[in-house]
Amino acid sequence: MITDGVRVDGRKLDELRPTKIEVGVLERADGSAYLEVGGNKIIAGVYGPRESYIRRLLEPNTGVIRCRYNMAPFSVDDRKRPGPDRRSSEISKITADALRPSLMLENYPRSMVDVFIEVIEAEGGTRCAGITAASVALADAGIPMTDIVVACAAGKVDGEIVLDLSEKEDKEGEADLPIAIMPRTGEVTLLQSDGNLSEEEFSKALDLAIDGCMQISEIQKEALKNKYLESME
Ligand code: UDP
Repeated sequence: MITDGVRVDGRKLDELRPTKIEVGVLERADGSAYLEVGGNKIIAGVYGPRESYIRRLLEPNTGVIRCRYNMAPFSVDDRKRPGPDRRSSEISKITADALRPSLMLENYPRSMVDVFIEVIEAEGGTRCAGITAASVALADAGIPMTDIVVACAAGKVDGEIVLDLSEKEDKEGEADLPIAIMPRTGEVTLLQSDGNLSEEEFSKALDLAIDGCMQISEIQKEALKNKYLESME
């Protein structure tokens, strides 16, 4: 899949797919974002903080975040069976875990923040794309945050460490290492690993994924700035 340092989609080993973020795309949500990364198209909508309507989730001293990651049936080549499954439950959980450390929810006891991530088209790396979009949507909702979480994967394809795996690279490659970080402090809020990497490869992939996150972080900030410049016009 790699010829003379060029990948199947023409990218260099350390090159991200084209990435675009738009803020405030949903009228009814408190915050929202639309994100494209290569062939991925994702919408994130945020509601809250609002009074917790699920008693068992209620925390007397803090607000809580809930995430739902969902893939549309038409988002993949083979129609995806609608509704939750093991994969979407796992991604929903790790998304909430990745975002939670950035949120200052202690000022919102007995409240909840709902994050909905809808994958409209999928092309590999949707968990990272969802986290990146959701964090922008949380900022758009005006929720106090210490940082805007950003996610990106690196992995191993044809023995080479590469950035931001496409679906083909994800499926046919040797390893995938999705991470999420808080770019201001460098704190890692998600680290998953699928496949085999030596210690040296792991370290190289981690550095590359962090580098990818830092690039996407600039796109997030630019998108948020654009929204607020527009609203001042
Ligand atoms: N995918 C698919 N059908 C599914 C689930 C996933 O075609 O039911 C594709 C989709 O393009 C996804 C990719 O496989 O992005 C990789 O899926 P994975 O579970 O590794 O999660 P992701 O890389 O999207 O975070």
